[in-house]
Amino acid sequence: MGDMTPSCNTDDEQAVTDLALDLHWTWNHATDRLWRQLAPDIWDHTHNAWTVLLNTPRSHLRSLLATPDFRDMLAQLVQAHADSQKKPSWFTQASTMTPSPTIAYFSMEYMLDEALPIYSGGLGNVAGDQLKAASDLGVPVVAVGLLYAQGYFRQGFSPTGQQEALYPINDPAQLPLTPVCDGNGDRLRVPFRIATGQVWLRAWRARVGRTALYLLDTNDPDNPPDIRCITTQLYGGDDTLRLRQELVLGIGGWRLLRVMGLRPDVCHLNEGHAAFAALERACGLMEDLGISFAHALTIARAGTIFTTHTAVPAGFDRFAPELVRRHLDFYARHDLRTDIAEILALGHDEGASPDTPFNMAWLALRVSGAVNAVSRLHEQVSRSLFNPLFPRWPQVQVPVSHVTNGVHVPTWDSAAADALWTSAAGKDRWLGTLEDVEHGIRAMPAHDLWHSRMQARAALVGFIANQHGARSCFAGGQHDCGMPPPQFDPAALTIGFARRFAAYKRPDLLLHDPGRLARILTSTDRPVQLVIAGKAHPRDMAGQALIARWMDFIRRPDLHGRAIFLVDYDMSIARRLVEGVDLWVNTPLRPWEACGTSGMKVLVNGGLNVSEPDGWWAEAGAPDVGWVIGDGADHGEGPARDAYDADCLYTLLENEIVPLFHQRDGAGIPQGWVAMMRESMARLTTRFSANRAVRDYTRRFYLPAAAACRARLADGGVKAAELGRWRQALAAGWHEIRFGALRATRVADRWRISVDVYLGAIAPDMVQVQLYADVTAGPPVIVLMTPAAGGADGQLTYSAEVDAARRAADYTPRVVGFHPDAAIPLEAAFITWQK
Ligand SMILES: *Cc1c(COP(=O)(O)O)cnc(C)c1O
Repeated sequence: MGDMTPSCNTDDEQAVTDLALDLHWTWNHATDRLWRQLAPDIWDHTHNAWTVLLNTPRSHLRSLLATPDFRDMLAQLVQAHADSQKKPSWFTQASTMTPSPTIAYFSMEYMLDEALPIYSGGLGNVAGDQLKAASDLGVPVVAVGLLYAQGYFRQGFSPTGQQEALYPINDPAQLPLTPVCDGNGDRLRVPFRIATGQVWLRAWRARVGRTALYLLDTNDPDNPPDIRCITTQLYGGDDTLRLRQELVLGIGGWRLLRVMGLRPDVCHLNEGHAAFAALERACGLMEDLGISFAHALTIARAGTIFTTHTAVPAGFDRFAPELVRRHLDFYARHDLRTDIAEILALGHDEGASPDTPFNMAWLALRVSGAVNAVSRLHEQVSRSLFNPLFPRWPQVQVPVSHVTNGVHVPTWDSAAADALWTSAAGKDRWLGTLEDVEHGIRAMPAHDLWHSRMQARAALVGFIANQHGARSCFAGGQHDCGMPPPQFDPAALTIGFARRFAAYKRPDLLLHDPGRLARILTSTDRPVQLVIAGKAHPRDMAGQALIARWMDFIRRPDLHGRAIFLVDYDMSIARRLVEGVDLWVNTPLRPWEACGTSGMKVLVNGGLNVSEPDGWWAEAGAPDVGWVIGDGADHGEGPARDAYDADCLYTLLENEIVPLFHQRDGAGIPQGWVAMMRESMARLTTRFSANRAVRDYTRRFYLPAAAACRARLADGGVKAAELGRWRQALAAGWHEIRFGALRATRVADRWRISVDVYLGAIAPDMVQVQLYADVTAGPPVIVLMTPAAGGADGQLTYSAEVDAARRAADYTPRVVGFHPDAAIPLEAAFITWQK
């Protein structure tokens, strides 16, 4: 197949190729039997349809295509695939907008399948899972990312147990991608000239069901070597390389969409990395409408959404301003017809000295019309992180909301779970609004749930015994390469812990008291086994030391067959784990886990969670669905906190979790455990699904943003021009605003509060005067004050009535900018308080 060019494909061969190129096969298993027929060994080993096809001799494919049975099957599958792509979707009911909007989704990484290794972890997981859910729901998303020649590092180990970073090559010809071509069928090369020299970007397309993912790379032989290397590695290299990647992703990505004739209404920035896309979007609008950069950015902003994913300031990318200047000065002058200082200001605190680092999250926020965090708790944390951009605004009003992440359920369910849910809720259960899905699971007999659990665990145990050894050597234990791996017990309580070995995730919390953990694992009457996996960034020596601690622990002779470290945690290892484990452990230092998704992947498979009440588990954790570590109170940071949390975790395992698992009825079923499984599956699976998340994004963000952006764009952008004038007027005159006398009089059970306000040159309809009162928990009270007629010299008396249950002094008058079409305070953070 490798030498097969499209022109010498027969129609049937092309049909097989098209099926293999649509990553729909990664979650819709209808075509599995086709791939197994082509090359059973390769399919069972890789579950990669494209690899199967590339390694199927043409003669074999042709002889199969000559048999009527195979041709019938192919015809059926092709028809079913075409139907699934055309079928009316949730989106056709959710949106009445004509023409239908297009949403461009930008992310540094996508975790769609191990067949396309361009991901590291959580961020890519969110992007990949949402893209698949968008396909299921028919949400018109086009995604943009980078094609890394080496992806993220793959994990190996030295004989002494040191992590080694490996970089196998992603040969585009071996990946399920097609080069993007222009109208003449020639390869599209996107000219990229942000500095004085021109370079070329190449573009590739991955089909993801109804959606498409476009990937850019710089590895065009015509480019100088330093440019060719920009897209070599994900999260490798220094600041310069990172900035260049982000320029290619943002500016190159938006340019690619334009070259292909796409004019997306909405641009969704999955993390700040891609924020430069807004500059290029403005550039396109300047070209189309002949308008200024500021005007164009006002239009673009209404259609831009920024999702922030980090809970720590260090998680934001920052670049030396000199570096940004060097890379963007030409682009700013030549393309955006503005001064580089304007661009730099977008990444700085107001009034910051020009040599403060350029913050990509600040840029992302300033070019967006809506900002969201990825869990309820993360919303709170993000408000404090972004508060510096809203000086004098109360933290509760920092404009960040949240959409809690979810996982793409059909990607993460086991075959056993799939069968179970199909009998409970039917085949198309993940394609709609999920309303009726949980009832079937609630009605599921304990025996069926437990049987499915036993099957899935046995599959994991089998994988550990048979297959993992073929993939890589086992680390730890007395068993080196070539030796049989330890035998796990298909009936023992199987605990999984796998994640990035980053300090805040505390991957060593379980090791706090190694003796105590070993006692839990070596019990003979209540068998327990532990599976560990995870990578530490090649430059993170502390993270690698934590892995080494686990290696030492696992080598203890008494733990042989009780604990194992699976090498090279990636999507396929993750899938095995979340399918098979009974219990998933998560120990981040609260509140530093923005959301976390791995624990959601066990839900559909009937695994239970024990976790810090951080990220998503702060919303989901409850005694009837799993276990919450600690009491949820703030115990600070440091050794005492770790000791406290570790003790809570051990105690839960010893006193509750292990006993519950082993408490069996006459039929050998742990009824208490199964009851929790049932509740966790029924209540949490749909709530923490990407389906729910994408529906939330669509209703709350995409559709309103598309409408707002179209409104600003209409008639050559008149509305945006007016908004620009409004903002300028506020900027010019704001410093003149003064408060005068304040009066409060009691009228029955109300306070009548009035205040004199001097607005100077600012017209009263450009602002609102409000009474503001804090509320201990919950949103503040904000009451609009109305002006009395006939003020002279820009002085007006504003008044309002409020409930006298609170003291009059609790209410503070303030002036804020107001425009019916502007997002306040996101787009205009003007504010003046009476005191
Ligand atoms: C799900 C997943 C992650 C993200 O998990 P967290 O809960 O954020 O730790 C990371 N890596 C892989 C391979 C995954 O499958």
